[in-house]
Amino acid sequence: MTAPLFAPGAFRLTPQEADLTARAREFGTRILAPRAARWDREASFPAENYADMHREGWLGICIPAAEGGMGADFRAYCLVAAEFGRFCGATALTWNMHVCSTLWSGPLTDDLEMEAETRATHRARRSAHYAGILGQGLIYSQPFSEGGAAAAGGVAFGTTARRVPGGFLVNGRKIFASLSGHAHRYGILATEAREGQNASRRDTLYLAVPADAPGVSVTGDWDPLGMRGTVSRTLVFEDVFVAEAAALMPAGLYFQAASRWPHMFLTLSPTYMGLAQAAYDFCVRYLRGEQPGTPPVKRRQYPTKQIAVAQMHVMLEQTKAIWFQAITEAGPDPSKEGVMRAYAAQYSVMENANAIATLALRTCGGQAMLKSLALERIYRDSRCGALMLPWTAELCLDRLGRDALYERGETDT
Ligand SMILES: Cc1cc2nc3c(=O)[nH]c(=O)nc-3n(C[C@H](O)[C@H](O)[C@H](O)COP(=O)(O)OP(=O)(O)OC[C@H]3O[C@@H](n4cnc5c(N)ncnc54)[C@H](O)[C@@H]3O)c2cc1C
Repeated sequence: MTAPLFAPGAFRLTPQEADLTARAREFGTRILAPRAARWDREASFPAENYADMHREGWLGICIPAAEGGMGADFRAYCLVAAEFGRFCGATALTWNMHVCSTLWSGPLTDDLEMEAETRATHRARRSAHYAGILGQGLIYSQPFSEGGAAAAGGVAFGTTARRVPGGFLVNGRKIFASLSGHAHRYGILATEAREGQNASRRDTLYLAVPADAPGVSVTGDWDPLGMRGTVSRTLVFEDVFVAEAAALMPAGLYFQAASRWPHMFLTLSPTYMGLAQAAYDFCVRYLRGEQPGTPPVKRRQYPTKQIAVAQMHVMLEQTKAIWFQAITEAGPDPSKEGVMRAYAAQYSVMENANAIATLALRTCGGQAMLKSLALERIYRDSRCGALMLPWTAELCLDRLGRDALYERGETDT
C-alpha cells in the first residue's frame, strides 16, 4: 500500500484521523484506483463507487457518531478526502459535494448562532437527511454555480425560492452541477423571493431539492477536459415544490456561515492535494522503473531528472505544509491572517497540483502521457482545480492582494 499523505506521527494526527486515513488509502487502492480510468474514458458517473462508499460507511463520514456516522470533523474529513483524491479525482470531488451537505449542516452549523428553537428544528431536519444517507444511500450534490457573479459571492443567487404553504417554489438554473442525474438530492443555494424587496445575499436559502421532484430537469452534454466522471451538466428548476423541512440550513444561516466560517470553501482543495501527491508518486515510481504497466526501465540516473524531482518534492512539501496549517486552524471567526492563509493554501494546492503534474509529464517523458497510464488523467484533472468558484486561483490572488494592502474599511478616496 502507498505511504500516508500525512504521516500520523510527523503531523500529530489524532487516532481517529490516523485510522480513517489508513482506511481511506486501503479503500482507494482496492476500489477507487482500478475503476478510475473507466469514469474518465466514458465521462460517466462512478455509481459503483458510491454503492461501495455507502456499504462501507463513507457517505456518512461527517455525520455525528451519535447519529450513526463516522463523526469526522473538518480536518479529519479533509485528510481523508485528500487520500481519496490520490486514487480517483472525480470520485473525490463529487464525494466532496456530498459530504459538504453533511459537514455544513452538521459540525459547521453547530458553531453558528441561532435561537434554541431554530436549532432544535434544524437538528430534527438534518437528522432526517442523515438517516436517508446512512440507510438508503442517498447522495447529495451542491449545485451553486449559475454562470454569473453569484457563485463568487458577488451578488444574490438568481435561482429563487418563493414561499408557498408547506415550503417553497423553486425556479432557476445551475451550471456545472456535478452529480447531475445521479444525486438523489440537489443541495442548491437560492434567494428567498420577497414581495417588493430587492434580492439580497442575506436571504440565501440552502435547500435539498429531491431529484425526482416535478419540474427538475438535467440538460446539456458533458465532454470536458478533466474531472470527466463528475458529470457536471446543467440543472433546470421550473416551479419545483420543495418542502420547508428539506432545508439543509435554517433561513439566513448560509450567509452567516459564509462570513463566519470561510474555510468552508476550502473543501474543494483536498481532492487536488491528493492529485498533487499522486503526480509526484507516479513520477518517482516511473523513474525508478517500478510503475505497473510499464517496462522496468530505470531513468533515475539522469541529473536533470533528479533536479526536476527535487523541485517537485519542494513544491509538494510547501503545499502540504500550508494546506495542513490551513485545515488545522479552520473554525468560526478566523483572524484576517487565518483567512489569508486559507486563500494562500487554496491557491497553492490548486496551482501546484497542476504544476507538479506538468513537471511529472515532462520529466517522465513521452511514454508517460499514454492514456493507459494514470498520469495523463491526473494532469487533466489537476487543471480543473484553479477554476472552482468561489475560491478560484484568480479570486484568491485578488483577495490576497487587496487584504494585504488594505485594512477593513480603508479606501484611497
Ligand atoms: C469539474 C468541475 C466541476 C464543477 N462542479 C461544480 C458543482 O458541483 N457545483 C457548482 O456550483 N459549481 C461547480 N463547478 C463550477 C465552478 O465552481 C465554476 O462555477 C465554473 O467553473 C465557473 O465557470 P465560468 O466560466 O462560468 O466562470 P465565470 O463566472 O465566467 O468566471 C471566470 C473566471 O473569472 C474569475 N472571476 C469570476 N468572478 C470574478 C470576480 N467577481 N472578480 C474577479 N474575478 C472573477 C474567476 O477566476 C473565474 O474562474 C464545477 C467546475 C468544474 C470545472
